[in-house]
Amino acid sequence: MKINSNFLNLKDSYLFATVGRKTTAYKAAHPEKKVIRLSIGDVTRPLAPVVIEAMHKAVDDMSRKETFKGYGPDQYCYGYEALIDSIKGSYARKGISLESGEVFVSDGAKSDLGNILDLFAPENTVLVPDPVYPVYVDTNVMAGRKILYADANLANGFLPMPDFSVDADIVYLCSPNNPTGAAYTKEQLKEWVKYAREKDAVLLYDAAYEYFITDPALARSIYQIEGAKECAIEFCSYSKTAGFTGVRCGYTIVPMALVREGTSLNKLWARRQSTKFNGVSYITQMGAAAVFTEEGEKQISENLGYYRENAKIIATCLDELGIFYTGGKNSPYIWLKCPNGMDSWQFFDYLLENANVVGTPGSGFGKNGEGFFRLTAFGTKEDTLEACSRLKTLLKK
Ligand code: PLP
Repeated sequence: MKINSNFLNLKDSYLFATVGRKTTAYKAAHPEKKVIRLSIGDVTRPLAPVVIEAMHKAVDDMSRKETFKGYGPDQYCYGYEALIDSIKGSYARKGISLESGEVFVSDGAKSDLGNILDLFAPENTVLVPDPVYPVYVDTNVMAGRKILYADANLANGFLPMPDFSVDADIVYLCSPNNPTGAAYTKEQLKEWVKYAREKDAVLLYDAAYEYFITDPALARSIYQIEGAKECAIEFCSYSKTAGFTGVRCGYTIVPMALVREGTSLNKLWARRQSTKFNGVSYITQMGAAAVFTEEGEKQISENLGYYRENAKIIATCLDELGIFYTGGKNSPYIWLKCPNGMDSWQFFDYLLENANVVGTPGSGFGKNGEGFFRLTAFGTKEDTLEACSRLKTLLKK
């Protein structure tokens, strides 16, 4: 018996563990100090009332013989039509028309981002932005694929554009980006669609943070770009949009028009899902179906507005300090250049010790993250204000 030795090529993910260990040690040594975590990547606001109400009703359905549900419907890989219709409605409001069979309900974007690789041959070359959400790299390392990196840096505003001299088969894009908060305009994405079509590549477009976008020049979906249905799969999530990180629900769009080597990727994905996945719970799906209703969108926008306000507080503070950053405007993440030439971990220690504020060192997200730092808008408004006041006192000196 042989193990998949590709796992041995994975780098230890020590980033969040080290942040946690250093924070705990500091708190233990200074119990009198209030440490503020602007490193939170998880949501903190509760679910919208319409979601709770829909989930309660779904629980009641489960209690009665007449309305009880077992496995979900086979027709759309166990996605209920009410949910699929609401997702199609959300896309229609962005000017995109989808067929029900193009929408796959998932237990979150992370699983599908990993599982989608079942569809691709191991010899494909993958292009991943650096820095980025580590899941893209690790899932391809597990599969033993060759990985190329697209540098995201100060020169390109952390939005790498295609290099037509590089041949990639699978290209990851994440917009708005985790960790940089940078988001592509529709004009920029046209270039990526052109690249994918020219190279016969497939774009894996992670839109987990699209509901943070307010600027109409920015793309909310890759399918806002003409020709994207022939070259892109899109991954979406209720996690950050509607506070579902603990509930677990997302959706992936695999267009009918996406065909490679004469084979429909939609059919392959449907086959893969019906073989290895048995759907998302009815209760969860009914809660998710309430999100993109008129009332649901009104209620989630209150929570999104709360996080946006925090992001604005941080961005304004950095503006006042004259510190370069990306994100903060159409994203819950703020990615800043460490001041005074500090590297990411030096700035982490400096902030923790002198302002008692915790962020995430950028070097943990890729080599181009060195010298940068991620703050998030997922804390409370009070903590965010307090942290920014401490930052100003410390860094104005
Ligand atoms: N994609 C990005 C860029 C993320 O940052 C995250 C979570 O932090 C995910 C996907 C995973 O989302 P989900 O909770 O839907 O699995």
